[in-house]
Amino acid sequence: MSFIENVKSKYTAKRMNNIKQLYMSVNNERGAIKSNSSSPEIFAVNKKTSLRSLPTMLSIGKNIEYTFKSLKNNPEFPKITASNDFINEFEDRAKSMGIKSIGYTNVIPKVIFQDKAVLYGNVIVLTKELDKNAVNNEFPGKTAIDLRIYDEFGKKTNELADYLRENGFGAHASHPAMGLVTYPTLAQHAGLGWRGKNNLLITPELGPRQKISAIFTSIENLPVKSENEHEWVADYCNTCKKCLKKCPEKAILEIESHNGPNGTKLVSELCKGCNESCTICMKNCPFNIREYTVIKSRFKRYHQEQ
Ligand code: SF4
Ligand code: SF4
Repeated sequence: MSFIENVKSKYTAKRMNNIKQLYMSVNNERGAIKSNSSSPEIFAVNKKTSLRSLPTMLSIGKNIEYTFKSLKNNPEFPKITASNDFINEFEDRAKSMGIKSIGYTNVIPKVIFQDKAVLYGNVIVLTKELDKNAVNNEFPGKTAIDLRIYDEFGKKTNELADYLRENGFGAHASHPAMGLVTYPTLAQHAGLGWRGKNNLLITPELGPRQKISAIFTSIENLPVKSENEHEWVADYCNTCKKCLKKCPEKAILEIESHNGPNGTKLVSELCKGCNESCTICMKNCPFNIREYTVIKSRFKRYHQEQ
């Protein structure tokens, strides 16, 4: 290992250790919602980065730290009710910052990663588009889907959390690069789409091509949807399974659920998605190739004809 690589590695380890301490600090906050025995393990990320990516990595680290350090700016007695006008203003602001879709749900412990905690039980879920050309031209070892999207999206998430605070609400942001919760499941609960067999959120707007972040908030009257209209995607996935067949690392495993081998588990040690920019299961997903509405109407028609 070269001298520079050695310094980089030591610095990164020290920074990661600081971040881990900050994560743990939320567990001690009064009223925090903590993981439980059914909570998932956090996805192991060991991204290989070039020296050129170092400034972006540092910025991501700084903004992850800010998600915790900014908690001291929460109002002492945060408001718990937001008007419809405020929710509309928030959504307009988020969309003007490049956020693609916004959903709302309540947090349950089984979406919180093991040993993690969140400050509020109400959550705003945000998505940001991944460039289609970059996804389709990506292959393991290349880094077209580089870290800048995480950095930019993390900053926007923090800005929106600050906006909530400025308006008297409590906020706890969760960075897209190192979240506190399993994002695709959280976004599914928020009605934004459905978690496909590739473990990615599939949405009508972007198929599997988005990153996700979240803001936990004191607002108790968020417009939470009671139904998820995307549930049919689970049945479609059961007839497709393309991502399982295409994954070069066999990192997607089918697992038994109460009604058969319909669920999947991503083996993080094998997956090259986070570590080496693999997008094979994303770019080969039919929802990345065709419009959601076209797939849906064909699938429904096929089943009506059977
Ligand atoms: S490739 Fe097929 S099985 Fe995999 S997530 Fe996409 S639709 Fe579902
Ligand atoms: S990102 Fe690549 S390695 Fe990981 S599950 Fe998808 S296809 Fe497999």
